[in-house]
Amino acid sequence: MKIEELSPVAVWKNFHALTQVPRPSGHLEKIQAFLLQWGKNAGIETWQDEAGNILMRKPATKGLEGRKCLVLQAHMDMVPQKTADSPHDFLTDPIPAYIDGDWVKTHGTTLGADDGMGVAAIMAIMEDKTLKHGPLEALITADEETGMFGAFGLKEGELQGKVLLNLDSETEGELYIGCAGGIDVTASMQYLEIEPFENRKAWRVTLKGLRGGHSGLEINEGRANANKLMGRFMREAVLVCNAGLAEWKGGNMRNAIPRDAHVVITVPTRSKSKLMKLVEECQTLWNNEFATIESGITLTVEPIEMPESEAPEEIRDNLINAILGCQNGVMRYIPTIPDTVETSSNLSIVEIGQGEATFSLLVRSSCDSMKMFQAISLKSVFTMAGMKVKFSGSYSGWQPDVDSPLLAAMKESYRKLFGTDAKVCVVHAGLECGIINAASGGGMDMISFGPTLMSPHSPDERVFIPSIPKFYDLVRHVVEQGVK
Ligand SMILES: [Zn+2]
Repeated sequence: MKIEELSPVAVWKNFHALTQVPRPSGHLEKIQAFLLQWGKNAGIETWQDEAGNILMRKPATKGLEGRKCLVLQAHMDMVPQKTADSPHDFLTDPIPAYIDGDWVKTHGTTLGADDGMGVAAIMAIMEDKTLKHGPLEALITADEETGMFGAFGLKEGELQGKVLLNLDSETEGELYIGCAGGIDVTASMQYLEIEPFENRKAWRVTLKGLRGGHSGLEINEGRANANKLMGRFMREAVLVCNAGLAEWKGGNMRNAIPRDAHVVITVPTRSKSKLMKLVEECQTLWNNEFATIESGITLTVEPIEMPESEAPEEIRDNLINAILGCQNGVMRYIPTIPDTVETSSNLSIVEIGQGEATFSLLVRSSCDSMKMFQAISLKSVFTMAGMKVKFSGSYSGWQPDVDSPLLAAMKESYRKLFGTDAKVCVVHAGLECGIINAASGGGMDMISFGPTLMSPHSPDERVFIPSIPKFYDLVRHVVEQGVK
């Protein structure tokens, strides 16, 4: 069976069409052109705003003009992550999605169900001529994954609706009424490199095979962080064979748990066997420590040409100490909501070499003051290591409103359709809701929900097929019922 034949076809055929259009964050010309053309063909008023968002407007069914205008919202870009051996080019290649049992997946890359499924559902609602509804608007935002630039750039007055359904959550049956804000923490330093000592050999040590994943949604699963593991290796390598550090590259996305890292080190020629033993020991130790969470962590070592320079010992030690000392993972759970992460940080990217070191971390919290406390704690550690620390991209969380009319309508729809109650939650990730609310002048009533996706932002990304009919039925029901 092809994915475009899955039920409901109205959604899957649009999702399939989206997989054919390259749309990595930062390169949206193709998807914008596609959506504009699609709207034109479907006879829907469609336009692009200055921020690159695509907007659509569909008038109410006759007699329902007096209802509140509903905004359906999703983002058009996708995270371009792939495995080290994948030949995929995100700028040109379609995503070859396929069915595997109850899941739709693809080969060695992100799938783009985050948030292609939301966009596909919006297209299905917009082109449906049988639905009866009040005034409808759609907002398909640009570059959500790299900093919610489309949402930030939305102009007041672009949207008329004040009730918004954000279709960018990842577990069917959950209604999100709040989300985490975030802040980027960047620590950097410059240093004068030294020549490696005599009688040394250079080695490249490579760590691979970690699961990675979303730095918010999956931060509480205890997954290994490639930069933290590499920090542990480097500390031992310095102790055991006084390894010199010439280069470090770990992670490549600020919002993903890093899956791989490598270092270039120099080691006294006579210490070769000690180094080999250490690499083997680390690999065994980590696979034991992370058994059931990770599978197949590999740490390998290969000879490499002698680098011209490396970090002085003091700088090397400061950087390793900072990597080991900085907080990574869950810092606090929400005191009033069990098992829900409030504040976390992720040591996303480490780059050392050529006289420069840069660490990038993303801190998240639904509580703005705890977010700043976490960011300042990190700043303390990096400052002790002699680094300069910069905060950027700060945005607030979204405060839950338990009395929202939209929440009441959606809970009722869910119960009517499926005979059970939806779970009401707060997500530990940035949703665009808070930013769209602010950009539209405030006063928005919002909910975020979606079908079931696993491991978004990683090459394991997959979507649970049976969740799509339920997700789409719920969207349709709310659109048909309207909101008081
Ligand atoms: Zn998303």
